[in-house]
Amino acid sequence: MNRHTTRCDVLVVGGGPAGSTCAAELVRAGLDVVVIDKTHFPRDKTCAGWITPQVVSTIGLDLEDYARGRVLQPISGFVTGVIGAEPHRIRYGDTVSYGIRRCEFDHYLLERSGARLRLDEPVERIERQGAGWRVNGDIESAMLVGAGGHFCPVASYLGARVGRAERVIAAQEAEFLAQDDSCLARPEEPELYFCRNLSGYGWCFRKGDFLNVGLGRIGHHGLAGSVREFWDWLAERRRVPAGPMPRMKGHAYLLHGFGARRRIDDAIALVGDAAGLAYPQSGEGIRPAVESGVLLARVIAAAAGDYSRVRLQVYIAELERRLGEPGIPPGSASSLPSRLRALLGRNVIAQPWFARRVVLDRWFLHAHESALPSLASAGAAGQTTVQAPLRA
Ligand SMILES: Cc1cc2nc3c(=O)[nH]c(=O)nc-3n(C[C@H](O)[C@H](O)[C@H](O)COP(=O)(O)OP(=O)(O)OC[C@H]3O[C@@H](n4cnc5c(N)ncnc54)[C@H](O)[C@@H]3O)c2cc1C
Repeated sequence: MNRHTTRCDVLVVGGGPAGSTCAAELVRAGLDVVVIDKTHFPRDKTCAGWITPQVVSTIGLDLEDYARGRVLQPISGFVTGVIGAEPHRIRYGDTVSYGIRRCEFDHYLLERSGARLRLDEPVERIERQGAGWRVNGDIESAMLVGAGGHFCPVASYLGARVGRAERVIAAQEAEFLAQDDSCLARPEEPELYFCRNLSGYGWCFRKGDFLNVGLGRIGHHGLAGSVREFWDWLAERRRVPAGPMPRMKGHAYLLHGFGARRRIDDAIALVGDAAGLAYPQSGEGIRPAVESGVLLARVIAAAAGDYSRVRLQVYIAELERRLGEPGIPPGSASSLPSRLRALLGRNVIAQPWFARRVVLDRWFLHAHESALPSLASAGAAGQTTVQAPLRA
């Protein structure tokens, strides 16, 4: 045995929202948890940074505390439509979501998780040791949680063909300082524009002094051209500052129902993007990431050391109850034939009632689904967590 061996009950690989939420719940349940991440925090993450009130509730976020020195942009409306066509402005009056910067949000959640941290250390070696694990040669744990995002090494260990043969959402995005008055994007009203064939959408989202612009859609083919066209169209509408398009950063990830990753085995399980859980209609991944973290933590805590696959199967059942069974969801536009999608794009998405009641309320805000309770939300009940009212 190595003199410097670190031992813990649960090793969480990845300190994003899925990993830090799972770790925080496990620590609250009394387990000894280590989070390992290949980068140091704060770190950048390619993301628009939109979170719903259900996320705020599940992670027990104290908005007043969070807003001290960090960007927390209340959202009370949207501008939405189809790229190239005149959009609609839809106002809710109340705060229905928030904009955050991932470099700040992820750092905050990881620091307050209470787990022991091993940062700046990629996971390179995963070995079985009895019923548990030895990772990178010197960390021993009874249970291993893969929260390393789309390219998670634990997902690869479970057989995922990461980066190959998976039908992904490919996205490009830039977040930059934009204090220029000539830019007409309003902070409280993010702008969402669907591709005409509904294969994805672009966004222009002002958060405090920062502007986040990007486009995501099914598959990589032709993405750079679509992003350039979208940028030029936004520039014509004075939604982005004059001047050259900034360097865009790319990322890909799986939507729930679009992949077939094995999510559990004996003493091992995946959460968040590692498990491919983002909502198929909106691409929102932070809520499924934190919810899967909570669900898995509950199952691990209740297992009292018996982490057999049979015992962990409850986690899969709970995930399916929450997100629906994998398989192309019937409500997803991407399951429709392309000509029908184009017709829908031009005629239905552009209708204000459809945009509000279906696209925003159901697909993006999930106004009909209440927040998942957690130990963190129970602990936060007495503090100043402002719950934004949602109207279904
Ligand atoms: C362009 C774009 C915009 C998006 N916008 C939104 C949005 O507005 N709202 C929303 O809800 N979702 C959005 N998403 C989706 C969202 O970003 C993800 O679903 C979410 O980050 C998933 O969280 P996670 O914790 O599972 O993974 P991640 O946030 O990816 O965290 C994974 C962590 O694992 C670490 N890691 C990776 N490999 C290793 C390794 N070998 N060893 C150790 N550590 C490792 C990484 O450093 C990282 O810190 C967007 C995605 C993209 C691409």
